[in-house]
Amino acid sequence: MSADASTWFYENFEQSGSAIGFRVKRKLDEVQSPFQKIEIWETTDWGNLMVIDGAIMLTSRDNFLYHEMMAHPVLFTHSNPKRVVIIGGGDCGTLREVLKHKEVEHAVQVDIDEQVTRMAEKYFPELCDSNADPRAELLFDDGIAYMKNAAPESIDVIIVDSTDPVGPAEGLFNEAFYQSCVKALRQGGILVQQSESPLVHLSLIKSMRHHMTAAGFAHCRTLPFPQPCYPTGWWSCTLARKGGELAGYRERGAQSKSFPTRYYNVDVHRAALVMPEFMRELGE
Ligand code: SAM
Repeated sequence: MSADASTWFYENFEQSGSAIGFRVKRKLDEVQSPFQKIEIWETTDWGNLMVIDGAIMLTSRDNFLYHEMMAHPVLFTHSNPKRVVIIGGGDCGTLREVLKHKEVEHAVQVDIDEQVTRMAEKYFPELCDSNADPRAELLFDDGIAYMKNAAPESIDVIIVDSTDPVGPAEGLFNEAFYQSCVKALRQGGILVQQSESPLVHLSLIKSMRHHMTAAGFAHCRTLPFPQPCYPTGWWSCTLARKGGELAGYRERGAQSKSFPTRYYNVDVHRAALVMPEFMRELGE
């Protein structure tokens, strides 16, 4: 995680002996919030870059891949998603995608750090387009406590769009958190969580799925997708359902969706459900 003399910003991944880098023009901002250090860089080719505690969060150019895959597969899998909770997601990109679904009546984003949203409003205004939607609610609170206190059987979809499982996000990857989610979801409700890189974090994905099942989720499914700015350039999200199957989705709804996307479509959804050979040990 450095910008060297030739003005490149690198994030090094010790675990995989690799790095991702962007050529940068200058640092636009830096804030140390009570929770984390947030930096914004202007790149030469990828728009703005947000970094939290040295880890790349998003760029203007490629965030649509992640945000669309965190929102649309889960919302087209649930039969009628009305009440959605996003844990983390302070850049508001996932919220924007969620609100494209007309059947969503209320979407609350619970990020621990208000500063992330303030920086997104300034440096990624396109992601905050839907923040004034009357169905949107922005809370700045710890997602772990929020889920613990949520009313039982009150939520259709929970989207965990968090930082990596260290620091404030560590408690979003354990059995106690998933138990709170199971309790808060209605029957047939679905949790989706960003689940890191299948190539280097397969054991983390396995342990997440183990904790999800132990907490009471009936089925899990991991969907890989490309994400150039994250370690290895390849990422995943894992769905877990309270009761019911995860094999199918509303294919016709996805086919005839009434809103634009740049990555997600019905064929991408179908393809994301196909397991590469080395991932088959996860189950489905
Ligand atoms: N998906 C991106 C990634 O994997 O790099 C992360 C995007 S989003 C900016 C991550 C957000 O999770 C941050 O804004 C951070 O404040 C939030 N976060 C971390 N721990 C949290 C917690 N316990 N409760 C709520 N939000 C949390």
